[in-house]
Amino acid sequence: MQSTMMPVQLSTNWILDRAGTYFGEQTILGRRPDKSTYRCSYADIRRRARQLAQALRDKAGVARGDPVATLCWNHSWHLESYFGIPAAGAVLHTLNLRLSPDDIAYIMDSAGDRVLIVDDVLLPVWERVKPLLRKPPSHVIVVPFDGGAAAAAADGTQGYEEFIAGDASAYEYPAQDENEAVGMCYTSGTTGRPKGVVYSHRSMVLHAITGCMPDLFALSARDQVMMVTPMFHANAWAVPFSAAMVGAGQILPGPHLGAEDLLDLMEEGQATMALGVPTIWMMIFQALSAPTRERRLVKGMRMLIGGAAVPQSMVANFERLDMHILQGWGMTETSPLASVPILKPAQAALPTHERQAIRAMQGMAVPLVEMRIVDDIEGVRPWDGQSSGEVQVRGPWITGSYHDTPNDPGKFTDDGWLRTGDIGTIDAQGYMRLVDRSKDMIKSGGEWISSVELENLAMGHPAVAEASVVAIPHPKWGERPLVVVVKRPGAEVDAAALREFMRPKLARYQVPDDFEWVDAIPKTSTGKFLKTKMREMYRDRLSVTPD
Ligand code: ADP
Repeated sequence: MQSTMMPVQLSTNWILDRAGTYFGEQTILGRRPDKSTYRCSYADIRRRARQLAQALRDKAGVARGDPVATLCWNHSWHLESYFGIPAAGAVLHTLNLRLSPDDIAYIMDSAGDRVLIVDDVLLPVWERVKPLLRKPPSHVIVVPFDGGAAAAAADGTQGYEEFIAGDASAYEYPAQDENEAVGMCYTSGTTGRPKGVVYSHRSMVLHAITGCMPDLFALSARDQVMMVTPMFHANAWAVPFSAAMVGAGQILPGPHLGAEDLLDLMEEGQATMALGVPTIWMMIFQALSAPTRERRLVKGMRMLIGGAAVPQSMVANFERLDMHILQGWGMTETSPLASVPILKPAQAALPTHERQAIRAMQGMAVPLVEMRIVDDIEGVRPWDGQSSGEVQVRGPWITGSYHDTPNDPGKFTDDGWLRTGDIGTIDAQGYMRLVDRSKDMIKSGGEWISSVELENLAMGHPAVAEASVVAIPHPKWGERPLVVVVKRPGAEVDAAALREFMRPKLARYQVPDDFEWVDAIPKTSTGKFLKTKMREMYRDRLSVTPD
């Protein structure tokens, strides 16, 4: 029997209209490069997003399904693009501005970006990417984030404000199937090149609704959300969509990510919730512990922290300040929300440190997502808190393939689960805890560094016989790469020289500072570097990377 329900297609256009119609007066607070602040509203965002959609269609010839890239900080123009690009039927493709020009160019070519929306202050990045592209976008639209002075100087570009000028009150959204693409993000490959994940209108809307649930972000029209997570990182965990859907205000810090700047803006915007990676919150805690003046943050503020493990001490430290951490685990492939440590009634009544220990776990699968742990030899593992295996997930906002890389059997199981490359246990209550990572990657301040790429670069130096790279702890950045090197007999190279040799091919944050010189690197029976042994050997070594 067919249902009698209307076949209404889920769409982010509905989120935009709801925000603009019911919460038109709600504030978006942002900070410009010169640190001045500005305000606009959801009514403005809706009106201007529709103008952008109309201009993309009429002036840039963007058609349904065309990717439109953004190279932007967190600001209101970016938020408009989040809605305006899909409102044109096009695909929001956020570019990670921290990547090397080579990677950005590869990603733009792979996606086939038709148009680029870029901040005036990021034009120097674009200038380095442009010559590397096989097929440059037909239109480059420059956001006057810094007032537009730089934009006026750039060749072959047009200003955002002129581009969107015009009345779009009669603009009609294209009729779309909910399974059509709404956005795409590239995720770093362990070896090989970054891979594209393509979200649908349906997955984005379902994810946005779920994120608002009380046991998850508990977002409401009474919230002001500080968006520290970059909007080019898994759509800022898709919180801009969740917040707009319920009419929560948004606070967009632009490029100013220092602790004092963030705290000032959270005060000015009276943030009730904030999101970011642990590195940021470590910095914020330090700033709050050595106050230069009394802070007027909202009492009982919630913080959504993810992207790397949240130490239990961090949960405890913030709780003492009446700030409450919710840890989220997920990845670009999972939209990204996959699990959070939800407290059941009996656990909410536990002694403080036991409760905080649960909060420091990656937690249980969120609604609509299923999770299991699997060992290659032993199969699906029991939920006993001891047996470990790869965490695998499936659900309506988990990717089932990659764009431009049709067959990646290493990432998907035959029975349709995503292999996350994270290793964990699940206890009898259903709480997952990450214990290791099978993907050979290092996460530094929320950004990836590929061990394999560093190894290949180091081994390209004529004095290096072998090099292997593992993560070592860093108090601010979480992890940093340690390059373990065996020199060729009779050859000489030191850390400074090797570092300079590797630098040109890397983004700034990827350049290693830590080197270890050894006679031999431990190997498996098949001759591969024995990373588990190496991680063990260097577990207590602290990175020398400056804060
Ligand atoms: P994001 O943009 O959310 O950081 P990525 O795809 O870049 O997404 O990274 C996802 C990976 O980051 C996960 O597979 C895991 O290794 C790590 N990660 C994310 N959240 C957590 C967490 N809460 N605890 C530990 N590791 C995490």
